[in-house]
Amino acid sequence: MNKILLILAVMFWLLKILELPCASQDKDAIFQTSTINALSRGVYDGDVSYKDLKKYGDFGLGTFNGLDGEMVALDGKFYQIKADGKAYPVVDSMKTPFAVVTFFEPDRTILANKTINYEKLQNYLDSLIPSNNIFYSIRVEGLFKYIKLRSVPNQKKPYTPLADVLKNEKVFEFNEIKGTAVGFRMPGYIQGVNVPGYHLHFITEDKKLGGHLLDCYIEDVRIEIDLSSYLYMALPSNTEFLEADLSKDDKINSKRSGD
Ligand code: ZN
Repeated sequence: MNKILLILAVMFWLLKILELPCASQDKDAIFQTSTINALSRGVYDGDVSYKDLKKYGDFGLGTFNGLDGEMVALDGKFYQIKADGKAYPVVDSMKTPFAVVTFFEPDRTILANKTINYEKLQNYLDSLIPSNNIFYSIRVEGLFKYIKLRSVPNQKKPYTPLADVLKNEKVFEFNEIKGTAVGFRMPGYIQGVNVPGYHLHFITEDKKLGGHLLDCYIEDVRIEIDLSSYLYMALPSNTEFLEADLSKDDKINSKRSGD
């Protein structure tokens, strides 16, 4: 009798384990390659191709091998914003050293009749979420009365740390431009792995310009939020990653994240 109970208990837990969603099947999961700390340390090459990345999401942000610009993924289309601020289509064979994607299925949609700056937008988003401790994919569409974006130039080996690269970041400012900000809100405890707080990339409505969002003033705001409790990671297997010293905390935030 005890044996039967034991077998049943083992079967129960096996089923529980099998029940755990796998990254490419769970539409609510967020998937990331490498860590933000590794990117900060100059690990600018990864193993995951965009062909493979697309299996884990149709929405998100990141960068490219050699830190060749900012990536924005929106509605299943992936864009590369190079250092000239222009958007180029992403080829499947390109690879990424850091990217965060999900299949975007909003749990909440909010139309805000406000004109707000980036700081107030973040405060407003904070007021909409049920907890600081889970992950959120965020899409913000609207008329950007003002927007400040940046991208980074392609790096050549030997790579220098991100803080040095960002001294040469390219900053673009636009007025009266429609578009969509795409990104994530991560909890504070994610420090080192991803970017705590808000991290958004932007693409214009005509999909011609974009970048990493530094500041904005936005009206006619449409906000969509996708809640998630799953984060999957794929770590690079190259020597640069395996030998990087990731023990120190680089205090990465949205302004210093580099991707
Ligand atoms: Zn970024």
